Amino acid sequence: MPTAEALADTYGVETRANQVCIWTNQYGKSRVFGLTTGHFNQTLEDADYLSLITRGLLRAAKAWPRWKASARMCAEVVCHLQDRMEYSFCPKCGGPLESRLLKASEPARLVCTQCPFVFFLDPKVAACTVIHQPGGIVLLQRAIEPGYGKWVFPGGYVDRGETVSDAAVREAKEEVNLEVQLVSLLGVYSYRRSPVIIVVYVAETIGGALRAADEALDVRLYTPETIPWNELAFPSTREALRQYVEGDRGGLTAYGKATGRLA
Ligand SMILES: [Zn+2]
Repeated sequence: MPTAEALADTYGVETRANQVCIWTNQYGKSRVFGLTTGHFNQTLEDADYLSLITRGLLRAAKAWPRWKASARMCAEVVCHLQDRMEYSFCPKCGGPLESRLLKASEPARLVCTQCPFVFFLDPKVAACTVIHQPGGIVLLQRAIEPGYGKWVFPGGYVDRGETVSDAAVREAKEEVNLEVQLVSLLGVYSYRRSPVIIVVYVAETIGGALRAADEALDVRLYTPETIPWNELAFPSTREALRQYVEGDRGGLTAYGKATGRLA
């Protein structure tokens, strides 16, 4: 098509030739962005794919809010992107937020259309403890979603202004009523497309009496042999416990104590 501008091509297995798969085209006064990749829902959930779409639309439109291309596929993609926007309004001024690519190497950001505010969707940090008592490792059964009824070690989100280690100690008290002292840092766990970073410490009990408290249906001691591997709440729970029972007690001795030896 004389009005089309090819942006990328790919090798077609059936046609045995390279063919254009991403392009922009001119329809009257409208410029349209189109592509033939991304037929699966899984693809549509992919951050890199959405970033590609966003860049293509920006290239076609030059101005995101005034985008008026008529191609049905592009309209569907825009609806999809809007569905993914968790937040609609600026927390500072109440103006509408829009998704905008600020830097080519980074994902699109939610930007206020009425003030300079950029809504960075930062990760959340959770602080947890693996507490080993004479009878086994302390696990609690979650009384809340996500992971209702599943097993996990004590832990929860770090408050802004709170240290990660203080949060780990506080959560142990809140959830299983134990006063603990941190011994070592077992690991830091994060996963692609997951907003949570999980910091897990090894801790020892210095007070309190074990019982299910906040957000826990039950609390039990599990030996390495009895850990309910198929009923653990999160990938990080499995990963950290696996590491622990295989003998890894963490590397950093940030608390001035040797890591490792447990009752
Ligand atoms: Zn604003």
